[in-house]
Amino acid sequence: MTPQRPAFPLKLDSLSGNKPKAKPMAAAARPAVKALPAGSLGQRNGQDKSQGIGMDSVAVRARMVQKLAQGGIQDAVVLQAMGTVERHRFVETALVNQAYEDTSLPIGLGQTISKPNVVARMIELLRNGATGKLGRVLEVGTGCGYQAAVLSHIASEVYSIERLKGLHEKARENLRAFRLHNVHLLFGDGMEGFAKGAPYAAIIAEAGGNNIPQPWLDQLAVGGRLVAPMVTPAGHQALVVVDKTAQGFQHQVLEAVHFVPLKSGIS
Ligand code: SAH
Repeated sequence: MTPQRPAFPLKLDSLSGNKPKAKPMAAAARPAVKALPAGSLGQRNGQDKSQGIGMDSVAVRARMVQKLAQGGIQDAVVLQAMGTVERHRFVETALVNQAYEDTSLPIGLGQTISKPNVVARMIELLRNGATGKLGRVLEVGTGCGYQAAVLSHIASEVYSIERLKGLHEKARENLRAFRLHNVHLLFGDGMEGFAKGAPYAAIIAEAGGNNIPQPWLDQLAVGGRLVAPMVTPAGHQALVVVDKTAQGFQHQVLEAVHFVPLKSGIS
């Protein structure tokens, strides 16, 4: 049977009548996470952020995971991955104290590392209750590499694209110590996807445009799922989930989100 395809690139005006099917989790409706005690992850005895705080960070991360679970994240595989990746190694030394707060943080070049609960929420949606690991996953917007590291625990291979050379290099540096052999960092325009790695079991984007680029839809495997922010006709971003089935595409528009804009070209 020939798959039926709606008009794509997917535009939100064609989606506006679509009711959220998954549980909306507007940021405002989520429980606030209290700031960690000052100094709980700070530099000690002149050590840099890569040394000496490992044991402290286990407990602080466990607390972050507990908050994620209280905030509605149920997928044990996601919680486990969030509890494993040391987020403090991806932020500037001056921000290490805030690394496990539920907040986005600057990572340079005007970009931000996403809030833990948004990372967890999107990966939970991406997994869609799968048993075991996903296959190949494409990530658009590597940034500092944090989410790529989390994805490496839930997927067999992660292809992560960044359009800003400075961040691509920063992510490479950040990830080096983790020795994640299944993470492939790519410098390029993620709006084109990465055809060589296709088809993908899942595609996740952390920057939002006015539509879902056609290459992402083309490169998604049948049975695969895409999770991305997209600008609504009202000018706000919402999280969009697209499932590619043998019968065509199905989509859901979920809660409001605040991501940096998806931009074309490299810089
Ligand atoms: N997942 C990242 C979040 C980074 S913010 C982290 O964990 O740190 C989103 C990133 O998307 C930014 O670094 C921005 O430069 C990048 N981006 C925006 N448009 C892009 C495009 N067309 N291709 C690749 N990356 C893009």
